[in-house]
Amino acid sequence: MTSPAEILGLPKPAWAADEVGMLYDMATRFMSEEIAPRYDEFEKNEMVDRESWRKAGAAGLLCASMPEEYGGSGGTFAHESAIIEAIGHVGVDGFGIGLHNSIVAPYILHYGSQEQKRKWLPKLATGELIGAIAMTEPGAGSDLQGVKTRAEKDGNQYRINGSKTFITNGQLANFIIVVTKTDPEKGAKGTSLIVVETDEVEGFERGRNLDKIGLKANDTSELFFNDVRVPTSNLLGHEEGQGFIQLMQQLPQERLQIGTGAIAMIERALALTIDYVKERKAFGKAIIDFQNTQFKLAELKTEATIGRVFYNDCVTRHINGGLDPVTASMAKYWLSDLQGKVVDECLQLHGGYGYMNEYPIARMFRDARVQRIYGGTNEIMKLLIGRSL
Ligand SMILES: Cc1cc2nc3c(=O)[nH]c(=O)nc-3n(C[C@H](O)[C@H](O)[C@H](O)COP(=O)(O)OP(=O)(O)OC[C@H]3O[C@@H](n4cnc5c(N)ncnc54)[C@H](O)[C@@H]3O)c2cc1C
Repeated sequence: MTSPAEILGLPKPAWAADEVGMLYDMATRFMSEEIAPRYDEFEKNEMVDRESWRKAGAAGLLCASMPEEYGGSGGTFAHESAIIEAIGHVGVDGFGIGLHNSIVAPYILHYGSQEQKRKWLPKLATGELIGAIAMTEPGAGSDLQGVKTRAEKDGNQYRINGSKTFITNGQLANFIIVVTKTDPEKGAKGTSLIVVETDEVEGFERGRNLDKIGLKANDTSELFFNDVRVPTSNLLGHEEGQGFIQLMQQLPQERLQIGTGAIAMIERALALTIDYVKERKAFGKAIIDFQNTQFKLAELKTEATIGRVFYNDCVTRHINGGLDPVTASMAKYWLSDLQGKVVDECLQLHGGYGYMNEYPIARMFRDARVQRIYGGTNEIMKLLIGRSL
């Protein structure tokens, strides 16, 4: 089979050359050898085990873009992209290290004090700490200004009360960045990000591991904070009230990495489907010999190529510090929409077998759906793009 990475036959962008390519190969090997053989078990348990996180850390796959002085590998988003693409190409999309690496860790790098960085980043790099970010609440999803979780200062501690839902890595995470209100009167300006190390506190409870239609190997949970006390030094940033600005600054990378997962799955779906239609026969010939099959796959390959070229351009801009929030929103919305379309059409070309869970395309169909919802729904992305017109 042509590998998903080669399916479009495009030249590698400058950022994917040499050491990023080597990291991609290494990550692909790791995912194929360590995660894929146990993936059914992880889906059944509804989480990847802690040991696999540690192994990923030992293999250098956690915090690849964090500086070496904090235990990372000193790479850029290109390195994170290589790892997320490997996950998508191997088809172990529920392994939540993308969020840990390119969403959680960067908050510490960008807004943490020297002491916080020294304390937390090396442990995030080994997998001793597993990261999550808790923004969404039962009453606040798209509209994050509606966050009710409250952090009240009490001497040299914050007392945190509130509940969160839909939190990725929610059962395993022991390092959670919690979006709180430190001053509810001030709306967005009263929002602060506070770290809760769950092994260190009382009053923290995990709710159910939520029963999702896809991404079964990822634990997604409710979290409850009942008078959870953390030192005031767990605040991210020099002063309270910076949370909303910090979120807005980091969301472009979160949105771009949803695009990474999308383009990787698109390429895998195409590679698998091209193989399948060459093998499967009907009316005395291979399915690929029907003009409809060729036209469908020609359309999908064209759109995938457009998607990959756009994605590569976004990464180039991001690495050079020039990916604006509007283009990042376009990448999230357009690539995840395309992912849904490609996976659906590819499933159709598998016929009834596409509806059977033992065929990877069925899992991809289930896993793809959420990409249009989390990280800001695609409607919210269009709202943001619309504001720039
Ligand atoms: C598997 C999974 C993992 C997740 N992981 C995390 C995580 O790690 N951390 C975290 O904090 N959150 C996480 N989320 C939450 C996710 O980010 C939210 O579900 C998402 O932002 C949407 O919020 P909501 O579910 O409250 O939907 P709502 O905000 O209630 O939206 C419902 C519908 O209304 C539409 N809508 C809302 N406002 C507008 C508007 N102004 N204009 C037009 N349409 C609008 C939406 O697009 C959507 O179609 C996760 C969710 C899932 C399903």
